[in-house]
Amino acid sequence: MSYHMTPDEFRESGKKMIDWIADYYEQIEKYPVFSQVQPGDIIKQLPEHAPEQGESMTDIMNDVNQIITPGITHWQSPNFFAYFQSNNSFPSILGDLLSSGLGVQGMLWATSPACTELETRVMDWMVDLMGLPQHFKSTETGGGVIQDTASSAVLAALLAARERKTNYHCNQTGDNSGLIAYISTQTHSSVEKGVKVIGLGTDRLRKIDVDATFAMEPHQLEEQIKRDLEAGLKPFFVCATIGTTSSNAVDPIEAIGEICKKYDIWLHVDAAMSGTAALLPEFRSHFNGLELADSYAFNPHKWMFTNFDCDCFWVADKAVLIKTLSILPEYLKNEATEKGAVIDYRDWHVQLGRRFRSLKLWFVLRHYGAEGLRYHILQHLEFARQFSTWVKASADFELLNEPPFNLVCFRHNAGNDFNKQLMDNINKSGKLFFSHTVLNNQLWLRMSIGQTQTELKHVEEAWSIICQQAKILTLPTDN
Ligand SMILES: *Cc1c(COP(=O)(O)O)cnc(C)c1O
Repeated sequence: MSYHMTPDEFRESGKKMIDWIADYYEQIEKYPVFSQVQPGDIIKQLPEHAPEQGESMTDIMNDVNQIITPGITHWQSPNFFAYFQSNNSFPSILGDLLSSGLGVQGMLWATSPACTELETRVMDWMVDLMGLPQHFKSTETGGGVIQDTASSAVLAALLAARERKTNYHCNQTGDNSGLIAYISTQTHSSVEKGVKVIGLGTDRLRKIDVDATFAMEPHQLEEQIKRDLEAGLKPFFVCATIGTTSSNAVDPIEAIGEICKKYDIWLHVDAAMSGTAALLPEFRSHFNGLELADSYAFNPHKWMFTNFDCDCFWVADKAVLIKTLSILPEYLKNEATEKGAVIDYRDWHVQLGRRFRSLKLWFVLRHYGAEGLRYHILQHLEFARQFSTWVKASADFELLNEPPFNLVCFRHNAGNDFNKQLMDNINKSGKLFFSHTVLNNQLWLRMSIGQTQTELKHVEEAWSIICQQAKILTLPTDN
């Protein structure tokens, strides 16, 4: 007697599921990009109690079609331009499926050697593919590890920085007194959250001013560090960003890096979205100074066709990270670990257990090749450049700046309320989905162009919808 699904039943349902997903991608443009449901619409269709008797896959999939699909915002639609993408690809989905199928828990080298060694190899590949500092390689002083998100990566960086600054005493005594972290006013909120998580408190986080391009002002950073040192405090961590979330601003990594070296401060560089652009040598000048960073993170799950979650995190000195996070209880002791012959990635992040995430990244790298990745990323960058030329040519809209990467920030000249209304009307229509930010008290519209299936025609159509809607909104009403 067994309630389990048999391999034959799995074969049948699994093939149908692949068909379902392929159909979904073929038909994705038929759905409103932004889910139209109201709060509670989904939960009220779901029974209050779990079923006592098991149900058929056909019934489950019927509910997926009836209940779940209407509550989906279609992140993989070519008309999704909101926030930052979380793009995807078929090779990645297959790699992720294989990872589920193998069901490996890769906390130690010994719990699946291939899970660790493939990850090490793929992370070293990425260093060369993106022109990153050679010392990030596992064969050098550094090394890379796949984390779930950029938020977890910065948390690991904060912890390592804290321990390096306190001679590994904070871990033991909990004494973090005087430690000060620095970000800019534009830095992603995940760093502030990390500062809370490590128990520092946001009073010990300094938000440095930015210049006209929304990039951190290095001299302001240095002035603040000096003031803190004079007050007897201990500056220990700076986060600089390549491609801020609001406007894609690029902090001057080289100048910030030199300040960090001078005052012995850990520099973490966050390029969660824009890091992918380093695949293209012509965009690497934005990454100048990265050799001064102690840690670096970017998300293939945003703009490199690898489905969520996948964050690549490198450190310049793996010994610091491992010393910070390593714990070896009796039940995890094994020969390979004790000989020091292997990498145990559970010492490289907060959690113990880990998925076999390198499979999907490996599938993506091998399916596209470096050439294929460069081709598609360059297209997105080119579409963004074209969109920005249409904005510039328009009498009604203005452009924030020449987009450094694939995010275009622009606004209609009729003011904040108008822009908000324009965006809401278009997003409600379901034809496309884009989002906004506020910079210098002005509301700016954001078009992030990086979906896997986005072609020039989608970007053209988006611009034409935006212009049409703006005209309709400008017309005087009858009443
Ligand atoms: C998206 C983003 C993050 C957070 O990413 P998660 O992987 O979701 O934690 C952090 N920093 C920047 C610059 C981002 O764009």
